[in-house]
Amino acid sequence: METRRLTILGATGSIGLSTLDVIRRHPDRFSIYALTAGTRASELAVLCREFQPEVAVMADPAAAKLLTELLADLPGIRVLSGTEGLCEVASAPTADTVMASIVGAAGLPPTLSAVRAGKRVLLANKEALVMSGKLFMDAVADSGAELLPIDSEHNAIFQCLPSERIRDPEGAGVARILLTASGGPFREHSADALRSVSPAQACAHPNWSMGQKISVDSATLMNKGLELIEACWLFNTTPERVEVHVHPESIIHSMVEYVDGSVLAQLGSPDMRTPIANGLAWPERIDAGVAPLDLFSIGRFHFERPDLVRFPCLRLAAEAFVQGGTAPAVLNAANEELSQPFWPVTCVLPISPLS
Ligand code: NDP
Ligand code: MG
Repeated sequence: METRRLTILGATGSIGLSTLDVIRRHPDRFSIYALTAGTRASELAVLCREFQPEVAVMADPAAAKLLTELLADLPGIRVLSGTEGLCEVASAPTADTVMASIVGAAGLPPTLSAVRAGKRVLLANKEALVMSGKLFMDAVADSGAELLPIDSEHNAIFQCLPSERIRDPEGAGVARILLTASGGPFREHSADALRSVSPAQACAHPNWSMGQKISVDSATLMNKGLELIEACWLFNTTPERVEVHVHPESIIHSMVEYVDGSVLAQLGSPDMRTPIANGLAWPERIDAGVAPLDLFSIGRFHFERPDLVRFPCLRLAAEAFVQGGTAPAVLNAANEELSQPFWPVTCVLPISPLS
């Protein structure tokens, strides 16, 4: 059995906490080298007490000062701050695996540091790849980093492709990637009704419990746009070969269609611990704490085409990818700025472990 020592970037977030929940179930297999957060020092202090990392990093220097005070009785834990601290723990030789789960553009420097250091990188922070596409994938190729997708759709596609042909799907006989989307909380809203939605409604995703930004991105379908770009880079393909299928049940996490007519799908409950456990243990399988799928109670699956008039972000993302260069970075920056007022305080996640 392989053992792994991890840095978790964004430990206090939705993905970070789900990762720690899987790790908690396998103490013989995983240990923590470093945990990081942005500003929430008390939340990170709680996690440090439980997981006893060697290093803890707060992006915000004032929060790092507070964390040092909160951990004064644990001198074994070194506290760092800022982007430098994040990059240091992402590339440190002591850790072999890095969970990249900071939200937004702030995740790019440490995620790229982990890639350049040749780590196993579990990629949840899709914005990093969207912003830096070719540079990021070139760094993966140069360093020999092992890049494993954590985004549920991309992890599903990864599971449906032969592992030695991830970057050559055409060579593997793949005709199309069928990227599924829940459609978000406003799937059935008219264009008029969309004008008056509230931040709380935007964050109330029908199937997934996630951080604020990705919840809002799901409501606008920008998340699917970012995922379209992410899929093109990860699987070395183009938007014409990726078709978005709105699937409101969120049970099929994506599909791969082969030239012989076979369509392979990965199914599961909408729980991020499944793709996280897949990435942590790959190529082995471990218990993720996820309830077995009960298809009898789900009963039916539905599929629709996305409406690019009500949800133009998906179209804009495809155009940005085709335009190339810095266009996806501009798209990502515009989205982060414009969606921020929609991240309401009511969406802050509980610190308690997910069950
Ligand atoms: P959350 O908002 O729940 O967590 C974000 C994490 O990043 C927190 O630990 C936060 O720290 C930290 N952080 C925020 N800003 C900064 C910063 N400027 N510098 C350093 N750290 C920072 O996000 P999610 O867990 O939902 O999402 C994380 C990433 O994973 C995103 O890129 C998202 O698209 C992707 N993803 C998420 C999924 C999900 O189910 N949640 C599914 C698929 C992908 P603090 O607590 O101190 O603010
Ligand atoms: Mg996703």
